[in-house]
Amino acid sequence: MSCDNFCGSYTFSIKVYGCQMNVCDGDRLRSAMNSLGWRESPDPADSDVAIFVTCSIRDKAEQKVISELGRFRPLWEKNRRPRIALLGCMAQRTGESIARKFPWVQVIAGPRHLGVVPEAIASSMTDDRVRFHLDSDPRELEDLECLPQTRGNRHKAYVTIAHGCDQFCSYCIVPYVRGRFRSRAPEGITDEIGRLIEDGVVEITLLGQNVNSYGLDFEGRLRGYRFARLLSDAAAIPGLKRLRFTTSHPIDFSDDILDVMSRRPNICPSINLPVQSGSDRVLREMNRKYTRGDYLGAVEKIRSALPGLGLTTDLIVGFPGETEEDFLDSVSLLERVRFDLVHSAAYSPREGTPAAARRDQVPAGERARRLAAINGLQSDISRQINKSLEGETCHVLLDEAAPRGEGLLQGRTETDKVVLVRAPNEMTGTIRPVLITGSSPWCLEGRLL
Ligand code: SF4
Repeated sequence: MSCDNFCGSYTFSIKVYGCQMNVCDGDRLRSAMNSLGWRESPDPADSDVAIFVTCSIRDKAEQKVISELGRFRPLWEKNRRPRIALLGCMAQRTGESIARKFPWVQVIAGPRHLGVVPEAIASSMTDDRVRFHLDSDPRELEDLECLPQTRGNRHKAYVTIAHGCDQFCSYCIVPYVRGRFRSRAPEGITDEIGRLIEDGVVEITLLGQNVNSYGLDFEGRLRGYRFARLLSDAAAIPGLKRLRFTTSHPIDFSDDILDVMSRRPNICPSINLPVQSGSDRVLREMNRKYTRGDYLGAVEKIRSALPGLGLTTDLIVGFPGETEEDFLDSVSLLERVRFDLVHSAAYSPREGTPAAARRDQVPAGERARRLAAINGLQSDISRQINKSLEGETCHVLLDEAAPRGEGLLQGRTETDKVVLVRAPNEMTGTIRPVLITGSSPWCLEGRLL
């Protein structure tokens, strides 16, 4: 639906958990509520509706939301406000039981129903009926057509290019809560990017659970329009300074994507290529559909096409049945590839996935030990890589004030490394040459040139 056919003069707060897709949904929803005349309040307890955009990827993320919801009981019993809108993956997965437990949750909508949420929130002010908008078919989609004008960051924006995922990795809840893979038409994407540039955006990140599969589901006039073509068309939009994308799946990272990346200087040389495990046996049981050798081959091809690339990965330790030998395969893969950054996690069982039903779960203490070992190793690798950048000049998009440190701005290199620079606030939103003067495993320090 369009976001301009239901008006009100209420206040809302919004809290976003989880991935960048949720951040993007939160920004679109915020903009839609503003365009209905609603004002954002920083305090959920002082708003008419408190919106939670939730995540189901780990049990911890869900438990945090449950404990937040519980705190609203006294306010609800006293004032009948705030009403709660529970959105996103957790709403899709557990919405019905949440509604039974917390009657102040008045709107429950899965991630594929964001388009009906503004109207559902507005109408929820009129009665105490719970409004459910959950998938009855994992292919249905009620998207919200609204430019994310009210963004967490003025200079950067996310643009969703595809919804859902068809890969069914055995540990992952995403296909069950975000539904089947569906690509957005390219015209809608390029139009949105053009309007975001007019609104002052310098850097766009194209988002999808698996961006490389973009277009695989197109029929008719769009058949054959794949991710490489979208990247090329997006990069050619006048005024776009930086273009990124996430997340990639190793099985679909085709040569034409590398070709476009090497020809278009405004596509940042930075790739997140989740490996998840270094052991062939575990990869097979994860249903990842590639081997360690395939992955290493893809890295070699990518690095030779894009020298100087920033390469990051996602890795799970303690997957059911993971032996010490399997774990050491992951260790040796990290030592061999030397990623810039590893998003590591101890395996967290998600009810309803095949891996969660296995009897050979690795004990929590052992999962924690393996995670600490991986983090220690990667911290050393990242420290060495970042140290080697000292003395180099990087182009940094200064995008916001640093969280700590008076007069410091925070920015990102083209390879997606965080840099802290002493610079005036007016430089926010500009790309500047910066000399790297210091480093740690997690960020760089620099001086404006
Ligand atoms: S590719 Fe696998 S891990 Fe990624 S969202 Fe799809 S099912 Fe989950």
